[in-house]
Amino acid sequence: MPETVKKFIGLGAEVTVQSGAGVKAGVPDSEYEAAGATIAGSAADASGSADLVLKVRRPSSDEIGLLKRGATVIAIMDPYGHEAELGAMAEAGLDAFAMELMPRITRAQVMDVLSSQANLAGYRAVVDGASEYGRAMPMMMTAAGTVPAARVFVMGVGVAGLQAIATARRMGAVVTATDVRPATKEQVESLGAKFVAVEDEEFKQAETSGGYAKEMSAEYKKKQADLVATHIAKQDIVITTALIPGRPAPQLVSEAMVASMKPGSVLIDLAVERGGNVEGAKAGEIVTTEKGVKIVGHLNVPGRLAATASSLYARNLYAFVETLVDKEAKTLAVKWDDELVKATNLTRDGQVSHPSFQPKS
Ligand code: NAD
Repeated sequence: MPETVKKFIGLGAEVTVQSGAGVKAGVPDSEYEAAGATIAGSAADASGSADLVLKVRRPSSDEIGLLKRGATVIAIMDPYGHEAELGAMAEAGLDAFAMELMPRITRAQVMDVLSSQANLAGYRAVVDGASEYGRAMPMMMTAAGTVPAARVFVMGVGVAGLQAIATARRMGAVVTATDVRPATKEQVESLGAKFVAVEDEEFKQAETSGGYAKEMSAEYKKKQADLVATHIAKQDIVITTALIPGRPAPQLVSEAMVASMKPGSVLIDLAVERGGNVEGAKAGEIVTTEKGVKIVGHLNVPGRLAATASSLYARNLYAFVETLVDKEAKTLAVKWDDELVKATNLTRDGQVSHPSFQPKS
């Protein structure tokens, strides 16, 4: 975004922006030029001589061919299951960094792309849910009679779920939420929503030391499913956000639960890109069941708020790059023993350097 272009120039960089890069976020080339960037007509012109390449996604094989050996590339790399692509970046002599592997420590919060984007996804899920739902969200007492408040159920209360709860509350819905991590109960209640979960011994141990969810036992899943089954039948909008790092998303809503919902109700599955929480959800589609329940599976939900998503991502990138720069010498000077660098660096010196993505021998 132009705001960060100015900051990069302040760090001593010369900035080139690929023509049209900001169009979908409502930013024309002229605004980048006004911020001091040079506009390049093609990806090759933009990146061929660059020391540092900042992207949204991992470079494609064509793009890798455009970059010079020794260039640093920072993006959301989606490395799990893409070891061959990481190998190609290593072979091309790139120093690649994955923003989504940033450790969740206080110093790195400003660089935490998973949080900045999940927060927007949670907000947008409610906006999309409200728009697909053919009724009003808040209770309204009108001369023509009373309209009841919509009932919204949020499943998975991480960053996206908390924002979904807050947004649905602001819109006047009656909100309930569930998660397997006990710490979320208080967070849900502090936002004015009601917590719904099986709170047994397993639930009390369900959080990893890193703050993420564990995969639950088959027995717990059954008890949770029974509780959810009675609750969900009474809901108007269900928003699912449940993820487990490095594993497929847990299925939380079965076809039978979807069938128990009233015609006109809506499910928004934010986990659809990782396999989905809702049975029958289709990536990139809105499925309407025979009974008239909609299952919304939009892809790249933060991209549905492109300007805000871009602004926050650009700030995340800038904050990380600032740590990689020698401000006196005005050059890139990566501190290879910094924990942020160690956690995010995928390739270096022609090798895949990250311990979690070593090629299998
Ligand atoms: P996530 O995207 O990995 O998962 C979303 C939610 O789904 C989580 O709350 C998880 O517990 C839940 N979930 C998983 N399985 C479930 C199931 N079977 N039923 C119901 N819910 C289920 O989570 P996230 O948003 O990345 O947040 C994970 C943790 O990281 C949280 O503790 C959050 O507070 C923490 N966090 C810390 C920082 C920081 O310190 N810098 C920043 C962001 C998030």
